Amino acid sequence: MRAQVFHGPGDLRFEEIPIPDPEPGGLVARVDAALTCGTDVRTLRRGHPVMIPHVPTVFGHELAGVVTAVGRGTRGVKEGDRIVSANSAPCSACRFCVGGRPNLCADLLFVNGAYGEHIALPPRLVQCNVVPIGPGLPAAIAAFAEPLACALLGVERGGVEPGMTVAIFGHGPLGCLLAMAARQRGAQVIIIGKAGWRLEQVRGMGLGPCVDGPAIPDMAQHLRGLADGGGPEVTMDATGRPEVWEQAIDGVGRGGTVVLFGGCAPGTSVRVDTRRAHYEELTLVGAFHHTPAMIRRAVELLESKVIAPGALLSRQVGLGQVQEALALMQRGETMKVLVDPQR
Ligand SMILES: [Zn+2]
Ligand SMILES: [Zn+2]
Repeated sequence: MRAQVFHGPGDLRFEEIPIPDPEPGGLVARVDAALTCGTDVRTLRRGHPVMIPHVPTVFGHELAGVVTAVGRGTRGVKEGDRIVSANSAPCSACRFCVGGRPNLCADLLFVNGAYGEHIALPPRLVQCNVVPIGPGLPAAIAAFAEPLACALLGVERGGVEPGMTVAIFGHGPLGCLLAMAARQRGAQVIIIGKAGWRLEQVRGMGLGPCVDGPAIPDMAQHLRGLADGGGPEVTMDATGRPEVWEQAIDGVGRGGTVVLFGGCAPGTSVRVDTRRAHYEELTLVGAFHHTPAMIRRAVELLESKVIAPGALLSRQVGLGQVQEALALMQRGETMKVLVDPQR
């Protein structure tokens, strides 16, 4: 089969490799849709010791497809089932798993391989993070389950409730998915981005007002004037830039919650106004990855079309063009790209 194989930072090779065999308890699926992700762009540049502990490995982590083979003793799925798979599976035994926070699992098993014609999914993944999908859900939309699950976790961590005002920093695909997830919970959303075609495209999605951040001299003051002068109940960072984290902290309203969603470069830190943090009881919460429950919830929301993220796909390519697609993402010239490995 053809696959985009990651050999190390900056080294992605389009290769012919054997179709994998299913492990006992595992399965092999034909990948019908894979999506590019900002994480791929960063991982390709600098590697990712957590998500990719061993190389070489087939690259890519957002996918939907059809089961083509199951291993001995595999339960719950059979050949021909349409599925989405998350890119990780928790151990369900450590204190985080037992305590209901499996996204923090001390032994999270990551699986890569969306950018290949087939992918092997190990037993632990099949047990907890492979979800069957119905015939009405296109693979390209189903593949949003993983990033949408991350956004659902962010909105949950933010305690978003109907009627709240939620300010989201970042107008990339995850900023938009956070906006969709917050709206689904009945919140009003403001997206803060940077002027350009992407912001115009996001504005066209009708998620809420889209603001050109750099054009506003004092973002914190601007935000805290919103919602009748109370400021947003929740702010979220989806940029992974420390200076934007600070804007999210400074811009949240009294008693508000800041969701630190975008991962920043290692070694960076941010400034917190101690007076506001104390007297205004600010809550700062991290939001990392997803849980099996959120993956299932994401599939439900996609199947029912309550969340319809198709507008975030700006183009479609075959397996051979993955590198070009990731380069376009890096330059901010596309939103997500749909990769069709069968093309
Ligand atoms: Zn992703
Ligand atoms: Zn665990």
